[in-house]
Parts: sequence; structure tokens; C-alpha cells
Amino acid sequence: MTLFEKIIAREIPADIVHEDDLCLAFRDIAPAAPVHVLIVPKTPVPRIAEADDAALVGHLFLTAAKLARELGIAETGFRVVANNGPHGGETVPHLHVHLLGGRPLAWPPG
Ligand code: AMP
Repeated sequence: MTLFEKIIAREIPADIVHEDDLCLAFRDIAPAAPVHVLIVPKTPVPRIAEADDAALVGHLFLTAAKLARELGIAETGFRVVANNGPHGGETVPHLHVHLLGGRPLAWPPG
């Protein structure tokens, strides 16, 4: 069972900001920006490279945009990103998109 499955099952606490039938969203434990939320599907797909459900992936992105509005970062701007594999910086093998905002974000990333 992945760390994020344990959070979904409420076996590990998290600061949850959104839940629906398809996903759970909670604040990152080590925030890289003033707003840093992870949007996680309840179905344990390992990573975006192995995802095949377009509706689910679309839902994660649209949920990120909705949360950006609700958390007050839609107007100043934000980033939605999925880290994939070792070079992508993935550390938890359960698909998740990061919603980051609340400060200017550098590009390209490190
Ligand atoms: P990634 O590196 O893209 O796989 O993202 C995993 C993210 O999960 C990192 O930003 C971590 O800070 C975050 N994280 C790890 N453990 C927890 C936790 N218990 N609650 C919330 N976020 C976590």
C-alpha cells in the first residue's frame, strides 16, 4: 500500500482540502510554495506514464484549477505538474499532480 493510499484510507493524517468520488487533495507536508497541494486519484495508478484513463487525468487537472480558484492563487498564477520517474523527481509511486502557487515560480525547473 502506498503512502497516498494510506492517506486516502485515513490511516495517515493529512490536511485535506478536497475530496470527491475520484480523488483526494491535501497539502504537501514539505511545501515548496505558499500553496502546495497534491491531487491524488483514489485509483492507485503508479504514475502518468502508466495512466490510461483520460477522464481521470483530466479530472485531476480540472480539480487543480478549481482548487487554485478556491485557494486564491488563480489570478496571480500557478503551476500544475506531475513528476514521473527518477529524472522527473518522483518520490511516491502513486500518481499525483502538484498544485503550486502563491509566489513567482522559476522556469525552467532545476
Ligand atoms: P513527488 O516527489 O512528485 O513524488 O511528490 C511527492 C510529494 O509528497 C512530495 O512533495 C512530498 O513532500 C509529499 N509528501 C510526502 N509525504 C507526505 C505526507 N505524509 N503528507 C503530505 N505530503 C507528503
